Amino acid sequence: MKDYGLYINGEWVDSESSRRFETRSPIDGRVLATFPLATPGDVERAIDAAEAAFPAWKRTPAPRRGEILLRAAQIMRARKQELGELVTTEMGKVIAEGKGDVQESIDFLEYIAGEGRRMLGETTPSELPNKFCMTVRQPIGVVGCITPWNFPTAIPIWKIGAALITGNTIVFKPASLTPLCVARLVEIFEEAGLPPGVLNFVTGSGSAVGNAIVESPRVQAISFTGGVPAGREIYQKAAKFLKSVELELGGKNPQIVMPDANLDLALEGVLFGAFGTAGQRCTATSRLILHQDIYDKFLGMLVDRVEKFKVGNPLDPETDMGPVVDQAAGEGIMSYIEIGKGEAKLRFGGERLTGGLYDQGFYIQPTIFETEHGTRISCEEIFGPVLSVIKVGSYEEAIEVANDVEYGLSSSIYTRDVNLAFRAIDDLVTGITYINAPTIGAEVHLPFGGTKNTGNGGREAGTAAIDEFTEIKTVFVDYSNRLQKAQIEHD
Ligand code: NDP
Repeated sequence: MKDYGLYINGEWVDSESSRRFETRSPIDGRVLATFPLATPGDVERAIDAAEAAFPAWKRTPAPRRGEILLRAAQIMRARKQELGELVTTEMGKVIAEGKGDVQESIDFLEYIAGEGRRMLGETTPSELPNKFCMTVRQPIGVVGCITPWNFPTAIPIWKIGAALITGNTIVFKPASLTPLCVARLVEIFEEAGLPPGVLNFVTGSGSAVGNAIVESPRVQAISFTGGVPAGREIYQKAAKFLKSVELELGGKNPQIVMPDANLDLALEGVLFGAFGTAGQRCTATSRLILHQDIYDKFLGMLVDRVEKFKVGNPLDPETDMGPVVDQAAGEGIMSYIEIGKGEAKLRFGGERLTGGLYDQGFYIQPTIFETEHGTRISCEEIFGPVLSVIKVGSYEEAIEVANDVEYGLSSSIYTRDVNLAFRAIDDLVTGITYINAPTIGAEVHLPFGGTKNTGNGGREAGTAAIDEFTEIKTVFVDYSNRLQKAQIEHD
């Protein structure tokens, strides 16, 4: 077990404060490392370092910046097993998904390093002769990145990779439940040759450290992934400084199954979508909307499979579902299960598991409720292994139910009717729609994000990540050698 410092200006340093916090494994409660509870003064030092490093990093050609990202990807690839085990140990998702988290990070770094050779702008004709018009991209400056615990390497890498390739410098605050995964990433970037001050890492609470980043006029942009309450607070505080804010927030994602669907495929989809990462994904399938014609049959198939689910140590490759991330998260999920027991019909699960390893973490049965649309469990984000199953009578009703929640991240429909599939693409008000695939499964070269309360309109990943972290400069080059007046010279 290691006692970490803060990473400021290329060095691991002590905080001004001697107060520390522990990161523990959700598997068995074991302490994995300790980190400083940084102060607003520490955050100021990190911003100083990021500001000082900015001019040289901005001048470094983007393809050269990309080479450093590629080196980091190579290091991660060589250590994928070890890093995957770390993700599983610190966060609790099963090992296949822990390694998937790392693979997504590698994929993103490789993709975004290549974008360093594009960083596309526009060229366009001028309305005047002998005049050239174009746009170029410039970094924003010092950016603040604040991340949640559920993808402890992939979400940080989406932000770090995109901010770095575009020439920004970073003050980074990880979730307090998973700082060790991000500390490991910082070490990897150091090994890959990232210059001092370009990436700074400060740990501590959202209210102290996160807030100091958001409230600093010297941090020009914030990239945040987390829950709606924190997102809303950050957006409001950043508005004072008119700083750019990218928010990726919650979800209440539906999978619709129509009568003509391949039911075996839809079953695999909902099992992975609802109970992968113990339901702790922003894109988790938390609502299963079943057409009445296949309702009883499909629900029966689902319960048969879930009954055989193995909940246990996520490092064991045979385990289907690990623990939830900590006691507080577990208690929150159990309180929703109690609400569900009052307003809906519990079809499977609904209990915290006890005995042996189960007593050392917070392990919950995969849980299935049959419910009407409009109940709390079918509309509010639970962020746990709890699935609400809703019966509908038609495609139109399925869409109405799917859309009638405050979130709009991901959605899915299983049907073999190509016309219906394309109608659903139009009709589902979400940032992501899957046809004949579960609500989870983002690919890094495509934009990611959602509508309504899932965010504030931006997208991450894909080329949208370049938009997030750049300012666009419009450039006019007049080579006419005379004063040309746009609009005014027009008859
Ligand atoms: P939180 O919103 O509680 O925390 C996210 C991060 O923000 C943490 O680093 C936290 O610090 C920090 N933070 C909390 N409050 C503030 C504040 N007032 N000012 C600045 N920073 C703050 O979310 P969780 O970590 O619990 O993650 C779960 C949520 O994230 C779910 O709602 C989920 O849907 C969403 N999410 C969204 C994704 C998307 O892309 N749309 C992807 C993944 C998750 P600390 O840890 O110290 O409290």
